[in-house]
Amino acid sequence: MDRRQFAGQLATAVVGASLAPAGPFLHVRRTAPATLDGARLNAHLKALSAFGANPAGGVSRVAYSDFDKAGRAYVMGLMKDAGLDVSVDFAGNILGRRAGSDAVLKPIMFGSHVDSVPDGGNYDGTVGSLSAIEVAQSLQEQGIRTRHPIEVMIWANEEGGLYGSKPVSGQLKAEELKNSSWSGKTIADGMKFLGGDPTRFTDVRRQRGDIAAYIELHIEQGGTLERESLNIGVVEGIVGIRRWDVTVNGMQNHAGTTPMDQRHDAMLAAARFIEMVNRVVRAEPGRQVGTVGKLEIFPGAPNVIPGRVQCTLEMRDVDAAKVLRIFSTISKESKGIGEMNGTTFDFRPSHEDVPAMSDPAIRAIIGDAAKDLKLTTKAMPSGAGHDAQAMAQIGPMGMIFIPSMGGISHSPKEYSTPQDIERGARVLMGAVLLADKRT
Ligand SMILES: [Zn+2]
Repeated sequence: MDRRQFAGQLATAVVGASLAPAGPFLHVRRTAPATLDGARLNAHLKALSAFGANPAGGVSRVAYSDFDKAGRAYVMGLMKDAGLDVSVDFAGNILGRRAGSDAVLKPIMFGSHVDSVPDGGNYDGTVGSLSAIEVAQSLQEQGIRTRHPIEVMIWANEEGGLYGSKPVSGQLKAEELKNSSWSGKTIADGMKFLGGDPTRFTDVRRQRGDIAAYIELHIEQGGTLERESLNIGVVEGIVGIRRWDVTVNGMQNHAGTTPMDQRHDAMLAAARFIEMVNRVVRAEPGRQVGTVGKLEIFPGAPNVIPGRVQCTLEMRDVDAAKVLRIFSTISKESKGIGEMNGTTFDFRPSHEDVPAMSDPAIRAIIGDAAKDLKLTTKAMPSGAGHDAQAMAQIGPMGMIFIPSMGGISHSPKEYSTPQDIERGARVLMGAVLLADKRT
């Protein structure tokens, strides 16, 4: 919005507030409901999509790449235009701060990320990031001062494994700085590349109670909202993830001379295992998912009975106890499968992300903000990981989902409509203002 449009909007606000007693300009500004500019927001999204654009119509703006750096520079410009006090922390996160009217209150934090997966789409992370900036700019233009300070956060390297938000929640371990990233740089070099300082990453840590709330708008990345023709998802929690490395031990032998009834075929047992995992995970109601996503066969030759199979098991749900209960059934049934042909199963835990529940008060705030806008909502889990799960460790967290067309994400085909994006941003704005009143 340029100055003339802004003046026009103020004039509309004056007319809209004509029932209020005539008074000074400030009074009128307060009675006008907060609004934002959806067209400007969508134009910013389009402009950001040029940084790392790929021929398929998506984007390859992996963290710590030159495209990432250029996109972040564009975003920092928007943040400065929005009147935010912009800085980059030691982990490479971009912070945009605006003071509140009450100096003792903790900040209300909101934002998302602008890095992508290789060959990704133009909506994952960017919708939440640019909406957060649009909210800040609109508050600024409409002269709305919050009681709490606001902090717009653009997290670094979300897609690589929450490498910006985990230092802030105290969950990053020093040895993880040596990990590599899609850019080819290590995490440490990547932080440095963005203007951070990996030797001081622990300094960005915040303690529980340091924020009043964290709210993140994001595309659903699944198809539930579109399928059910709903506007807004109110996230109940982000699923926990557990992974195991599974070894199936059999006996390697000659594929020509070993009779069928005397084989300890690890591959056959693994095939039965994969089928069983799918059956057991589906056996009880709920949104839990289980996947065997990787398989290696040893020795892996056409004329050799496989002696060993290495595979993975991954399960996700918001209820960690449920995941463990299902795992114990899988482990028990694996024994039975092994007994069928003289093979054994070993499970080694390899990864765990604890589930992160959203805060009931923030969920209510998001629901009320959507209701104020006459939008339909649904409570739902997030099957994908987000920076919000790290922030849940330090304060009340909530997430807002908008529909993803076809449920497609991490693909150039990722798409959300400009109207849904604007609706999501309006819910974010309403939620920030309600949180400012209620927390
Ligand atoms: Zn994302």
